[in-house]
Amino acid sequence: MMAQFLDIKARHADALLFYRMGDFYEMFFDDAVAAAAALDIALTKRGTYDGAPIPMCGVPVHSAEGYLLSLIRKGFRVAIAEQMEDPAEAKKRGSKSVVKRDVVRLVTPGTLTEDSLLEPRRHNYLTAWADIRGASALAWADISTGELRVMPCPRVRLAPELARLGARELVVTEDVAAGLRELADEMGFALAERGRAAFDSTNGNKRLCALFNTATLDGFGSFERAELSALGALVDYLDMTQKGQMPLLTPPVRENAKAAMQIDAATRRNLELTQALAGGRAGSLLATVDQSVTPGGARLLERRISSPSCDLGEIEARLAAVTALVDSDRLRGDLRAALKSVPDIDRALSRLALDRGGPRDLAMLRAGLGEAGAIAEILGSAAVPPLLETSAMALVGHEDLAAYLEATLVADPPLLARDGGFVAAGVDADLDAARELRDEGRAVIARMQADYAKETGIQALKIKHNNVLGYFVETTATHADKMLSAPLNEKFKHRQTTANQVRFTTPELTELETSILNAGGRALDIERRIFEEMRAALLAAAGEIQVTARALSEIDVAAGFAELARHNNWCRPVVNDSRDFNVDGGRHPVVEAALQKAGQPFVANSLGLEPAADGAAIWLVTGPNMAGKSTFLRQNALIAILAQAGGYVPAKAATIGLVDQVFSRVGASDDLARGRSTFMVEMVETAAILNQAGSRAFVILDEIGRGTATYDGLSIAWAVLEHLHGVNQSRALFATHYHEMTAMADRLDGVDNATVAVREWEGDVVFMHEVTKGAADRSYGVQVARLAGLPEAVIGRAREVLDMLERGDQGQRGAKTLIDDLPLFAMQPTPPRPAPVAKSSAVEDRLADIHPDALSPREALALLYELRELL
Ligand code: ADP
Repeated sequence: MMAQFLDIKARHADALLFYRMGDFYEMFFDDAVAAAAALDIALTKRGTYDGAPIPMCGVPVHSAEGYLLSLIRKGFRVAIAEQMEDPAEAKKRGSKSVVKRDVVRLVTPGTLTEDSLLEPRRHNYLTAWADIRGASALAWADISTGELRVMPCPRVRLAPELARLGARELVVTEDVAAGLRELADEMGFALAERGRAAFDSTNGNKRLCALFNTATLDGFGSFERAELSALGALVDYLDMTQKGQMPLLTPPVRENAKAAMQIDAATRRNLELTQALAGGRAGSLLATVDQSVTPGGARLLERRISSPSCDLGEIEARLAAVTALVDSDRLRGDLRAALKSVPDIDRALSRLALDRGGPRDLAMLRAGLGEAGAIAEILGSAAVPPLLETSAMALVGHEDLAAYLEATLVADPPLLARDGGFVAAGVDADLDAARELRDEGRAVIARMQADYAKETGIQALKIKHNNVLGYFVETTATHADKMLSAPLNEKFKHRQTTANQVRFTTPELTELETSILNAGGRALDIERRIFEEMRAALLAAAGEIQVTARALSEIDVAAGFAELARHNNWCRPVVNDSRDFNVDGGRHPVVEAALQKAGQPFVANSLGLEPAADGAAIWLVTGPNMAGKSTFLRQNALIAILAQAGGYVPAKAATIGLVDQVFSRVGASDDLARGRSTFMVEMVETAAILNQAGSRAFVILDEIGRGTATYDGLSIAWAVLEHLHGVNQSRALFATHYHEMTAMADRLDGVDNATVAVREWEGDVVFMHEVTKGAADRSYGVQVARLAGLPEAVIGRAREVLDMLERGDQGQRGAKTLIDDLPLFAMQPTPPRPAPVAKSSAVEDRLADIHPDALSPREALALLYELRELL
């Protein structure tokens, strides 16, 4: 057995091997040590190998999923080796013979399908990145829903795209993997390394053609070599991990990188789009706006928020659908009520395709398809915009399939097909008979006994059972003659005569006996056959069912956005091809929701950016800490994202000229959540913006430059703003506490000052959270410090210093030293310039004249003497 184990293990060196032994999966050697620690289960020993005891641990098969989940979450890959034959068969080959085992599946983070291992409202993406001589592409699939996509993706776009998808696993060649380890750790995806052969584009083409049963992929679009390579590697990896059971994949769709708003990883994190900084979904934009009632709808919403559209037509169509559902409470209510009973069609279908499904998956599809018909009717009863109309059309056409499932499956089937009990009565006469026999063997015998009594005219005739004869017919000896002579003796074969009884069997009874004995097994076989028939029928219609599922998700997302808009007073944004960014009375959806819970109002704020053609439009937002600058910046970025995701926005009115990139950066010291508060990171990220942002970008920069000394910080902030204004020509919001920068508004056409108002009341500040045009007059830092609970003595001293500094600013020389110590307040309202060069000396003048390359060694020496003289 150990030899078999080691043989299998050698083929799956990078995975923990779950080795099936009866009711347990056992792990041995290093696997056992690692798994016992990771799962917190007992590590024991079993036998010896090379003289040393073999470490071992195990988990029961029936609860294996939970353990699998823990291991996958901790970054392990697990190979599951099952027994491939009945142990009895192995015994037949000889007492020493080992049961055949083989790996039936490799469980990895990107290839999960079980509901218990997946988050229902999130996609689970497996990705593959290929690089062929400088051309590169990223392919991704969610095998739990069948989605398969690809797009060109240079190395610099890899991290942002993986962040957009929330990739769980990335397949790459070994040499590429080496350079991605850090990124994988940081972003929390698993790296799967494959040989170059797996990435061969010609093979990739063949693999895809075979998978989709076509001679060429032309029908799906034209793919570049790198794309074929990435797709091929993905399919190859699925083939390997699923051991040949191919998941149900839709034909590959080529995604256009330009079609979606580009949002890099830092911006996503910072804006907390799908995940809060604290980790987890709660507190993210997605969690706040998610009103969908189906898992498929929730996943589609996640995709929309993660990659808002840049296609005006598409955005318009989605908004029109939302509007129709905002306008009609009744339609929305009916749809949402019906959608509530729509199960996770995609995932049920995918499990069936991978042969991991059970009767409950069939029941889910029955419910889903039935409900789809009902929803089509609801939509059909109203005049709806085109998007909803096409969705409604995609919901119908499954009536026969739904009726077939309805008639075939019991109302509430069991999870597993293994034990039967899911096919309804009346579906199959043989099955009904088998079940009857199994369940009511006695009654059938009793009926046969009555029949025989009638036939023979012997009322005392009995059918009995013993271990020697099995079932037999018995009469008292008095009837023996009648039974033993014609015509009865033709049917009733004599078996035994005892003192008082005569016993017979009939072919019918013998047959009945075997069937009673086999009835249970037969019933199961028939049920399994019918299960396969239902499965085949569903898989034959898989493509159309996926289209229906997609349409249901689309309706759910629109109805969810509408619900949100209706209850929170959101408005329909105008998205057009201008470069304006006007928001009237905008709010931050997440902060507002949090304040609402605490019973506090959120102060709405407006923004007006109207850049000249080819120019920037930037608001420089000043104001004390805690005034609401960050909130204002972010709420506007979120409004653009929501609008282009096809949703209403938290504002009274909004006009958004199409935004194709969103960037958000926060000064280094705010980024503590990630434990990388270095100034370097801040600068690298800022560089990325200045290098990439175009005239359709929307940029928010929050306290850039804060991570370094005041002079440096101010100078950097200043230069960054100038670059954004002059070179990038983006729309931007720039929050800063450097008041000196407000002078820029006078110098640069596209820059306006705005400030978040605070009032001073009896020496304290009161935060108004109101954004107004114009510059803040002072920073209120001392007042804020007091609110924060700094001791009165410190506050008092701070006031003194401040007074002195402010007087110093107005020219009092006495404060000079203090000003140098506290440069923030000493800043002039212009950026620092290099100190004027003092008048040069004679030595310096002479040195400046020298061309060292033109000097011979001798001349150099002479020059040294000459310089010495000049001193
Ligand atoms: P700043 O960036 O100026 O330091 P923040 O944007 O972080 O300030 O806001 C500080 C706090 O003020 C927030 O956590 C929020 O509770 C509150 N706040 C901000 N903006 C508003 C607003 N418009 N209405 C109500 N409360 C707000």
